[in-house]
Amino acid sequence: LAMPLSIAIDGPSASGKSTLAKALAEKYGFIYIDTGALYRTVGLYVHELCLSSQDAEAIVAALPEIHIEMQLRDGRGEVYLNGRPVGDEIRTPVCSLYASDVSKLPEVRAFLLSLQRDIAAKHNVVMDGRDIGTVVLPNADVKIFLTASAEVRAKRRYLELQSKSVSDTYETVLADMIERDRRDTERPIAPLKQAPDAVLVDTSELSPEESV
Ligand code: C5P
Repeated sequence: LAMPLSIAIDGPSASGKSTLAKALAEKYGFIYIDTGALYRTVGLYVHELCLSSQDAEAIVAALPEIHIEMQLRDGRGEVYLNGRPVGDEIRTPVCSLYASDVSKLPEVRAFLLSLQRDIAAKHNVVMDGRDIGTVVLPNADVKIFLTASAEVRAKRRYLELQSKSVSDTYETVLADMIERDRRDTERPIAPLKQAPDAVLVDTSELSPEESV
């Protein structure tokens, strides 16, 4: 049996990872795996339990109750939380903040690691996240580190939220994003960073087609 191929895409929020990943997945017939959705799903569950996103002990204690599954449909992984599809519920600003907080915890990262590796062991994947090229799939066939200026990224995220009728201002979106990126970059475990063998692509002035 041939070894499955993998493309790892890492970078800060709204750098264009999911747009690029989906386009590449479609182009090559690979499965698109959005690993941020997994952290968001843990965040959603913690939020639904009314736990503080800072309460590491309570969050770790809740992990055994969390069953996260990815079902492959239409060329991508759909996330299920305790049997129910999470869909767009995980895209709200509060879930973004919860995801960012829970992702600092080594127990949460370990909890989600085998799920990610198992999918890549069985299928050709384009996987996007923060630590795919560095931690999850250090042997990925192609690694891309995607960036763009904070202002460009905040504008993209703002327009995306508006299209989903979330009424945050551009300033709030920019401030939240800068804070989330700071935390992703500065955390001691699996921080956001370019793998030495990753190709750096800045999408600030690129259209989605040009990025691909
Ligand atoms: O990519 P997205 O913005 O949906 O990810 C939500 C949060 O999940 C990020 O801010 C980051 O803290 C965390 N994350 C992570 N490692 C990944 C993917 C996401 O820590 N591989």
